[in-house]
Amino acid sequence: MPEGHTIHRLAKDLNASLRPGKVTATSPQGPFAEQAEILNGNTLVAAEAWGKHLFLDFANAPLLHIHLGLIGKLRPKPLETSSTEGAIRLRLEGNEKLWDLTGPMTCALIDDDDAAAVTAKLGPDPLRKDGKADEFVDRMSRKKMPLAAALLDQKVIAGIGNVYRSEFCYLAGINPNTPANSLDEDTVRSLWDMATRQLKLGVKLNRIVTREPSEVGTTAGKIDNDNRLYVYKREGQPCHRCGDEIRLVEIAKRKAWYCPTEQA
Ligand SMILES: [Zn+2]
Repeated sequence: MPEGHTIHRLAKDLNASLRPGKVTATSPQGPFAEQAEILNGNTLVAAEAWGKHLFLDFANAPLLHIHLGLIGKLRPKPLETSSTEGAIRLRLEGNEKLWDLTGPMTCALIDDDDAAAVTAKLGPDPLRKDGKADEFVDRMSRKKMPLAAALLDQKVIAGIGNVYRSEFCYLAGINPNTPANSLDEDTVRSLWDMATRQLKLGVKLNRIVTREPSEVGTTAGKIDNDNRLYVYKREGQPCHRCGDEIRLVEIAKRKAWYCPTEQA
């Protein structure tokens, strides 16, 4: 599932490529045709992300709410693309490129009350200006669940998925099963700062790279996919830093990875 950095990057890219000017909205296979017609010909005021949710605010139209879920994709294509293959729910065409939305978990036109109901269920997002560390500290202090579960809880912190949660526990040197509310405030604040730095880098690179570039001898942008993470999907392989064997556990019904030496 795309994590928050992907959605923020999409918001940024949509703002850059669909503004200014009118946006042509269509639903090539039809299931969203009525709603696309409402959006069609309007200008995009702003695309905005909150965690894994994307909101597109068009002038004179309801808000477009998208959640990509597990398999959804929102991809840019050249303007001259004529193919409509692949169950495209919504195609948005600007002056520079077009964007095809396929397989989203949510794609709906909503009003302000609906939007408020969606964001009320979300915790602070480290990539948003209104995302506050204090709120993260407060929400963590109320969770007895393991840290790795709390980091996935979108009400605790919005935008973290399965890759970042394991990597953050590793970078903090904390066992993923440690109860969230047992961590002291300084530790929780440093987790927030780490999440902010890491997600910002993720937006910039448009992929997740948690490895320290100096360990690999290159820049973050040039680290290859086999070397960009410390623990995620590396069970049985040696830890990049200490050589111990990375282990796999199940936390909050999802797989989590850790180094038994550094995260004892
Ligand atoms: Zn290690």
